Amino acid sequence: MRMYRCRLKVLTPMVIGEVRSARGYYTAYEAIPGHTIGGAVNRALFGKSYPPQGNAAKMFIASTAYPVFDNRESFPAHPFYYECKVCDNLIFSTLEKESLLQAIKGGLKDVKDKLVALECDRHHPLKSLHPRPLVHDSAFIKKDRLSVQPFISVGMNRHTASSQYGLLYEYTAIEPGQEYWFTLASTGNIDISEEFEVRIGRGSSRGLGRGLVKVVRKDEGFSFTQHSASEITLYALSPVPLRFLSKPINLKECAARYGLSGVDGSLEILVVEDQLMVFGKVKTMSAGWSFGSPISRNRITCVSAGSVLVCRWREKSSDPLRSMEALRYFGMPLVLDSDPVDGFCMLHTFDGEPIREVR
Ligand SMILES: [Zn+2]
Repeated sequence: MRMYRCRLKVLTPMVIGEVRSARGYYTAYEAIPGHTIGGAVNRALFGKSYPPQGNAAKMFIASTAYPVFDNRESFPAHPFYYECKVCDNLIFSTLEKESLLQAIKGGLKDVKDKLVALECDRHHPLKSLHPRPLVHDSAFIKKDRLSVQPFISVGMNRHTASSQYGLLYEYTAIEPGQEYWFTLASTGNIDISEEFEVRIGRGSSRGLGRGLVKVVRKDEGFSFTQHSASEITLYALSPVPLRFLSKPINLKECAARYGLSGVDGSLEILVVEDQLMVFGKVKTMSAGWSFGSPISRNRITCVSAGSVLVCRWREKSSDPLRSMEALRYFGMPLVLDSDPVDGFCMLHTFDGEPIREVR
């Protein structure tokens, strides 16, 4: 496995729309989906030999890209992160004090009593920050918003080279200068340039969506906690499609798609009092475009990045540490219309407060 930590710097306004209206695309993502980043990186690095035929050893799998604020990497808030609606800058996670696994042992009532907070110490109402991007390091916790700009594009008439009446598009674009972080992983022995340009999102033929990727470091030598425990708490670094919640997460599918040896076993979500132990918001999202096809894939229903899942080994892995590393950096391939889509179901084990522990 080769894993890299990268930064993307937006050079020209980037339009990564979710919702199409009559006049354009709205809603800039606070995070850029892994399949979008992955497609852009692989096209920049491999040109026409992407996508590779057969298994995916000759390409990179990208994580979701999250914003970087003041040179600090943000992560999606999990559902136990709260903000006081009255007190200034009062942001906290109930997982800092209470263990999720311990609470689960006491049943759903304990989970609710110990982990769901309704008011601060001064009895003000709280709101959950899930899944907003959050910076959490030893010094401070901070939430921030991306700078976006409305962007109006005039349709040009190809024959007269002048603007065309009635062809006016409105977009929300991510402003130049914004940075994101993400990971790249591959099983092939592929060397990567330290710096390269990518094109992401709409309007790249009109100069939009140019970005510069820099490799920050090689990610290696992880000591994941908990990987062989009977119950494992996992933090989602990407959206998790519902199919991975209703059926076991079979790591052999990950091994087969990405050519990974020693990755096996299957995980299932723990059920307590008839409830799946999955904490997070459900949303539908675009699954992008099939390569070379003008038709977008069906939208898929996921729990958001930042969600928390509790799993157990249904079939124990022969190498739990390696399997967990694969789940973190490769995730699970999602097959949509017999077309595999990468960058989903990337999960990181944690003991206490995930955003403090995740790397
Ligand atoms: Zn308060």
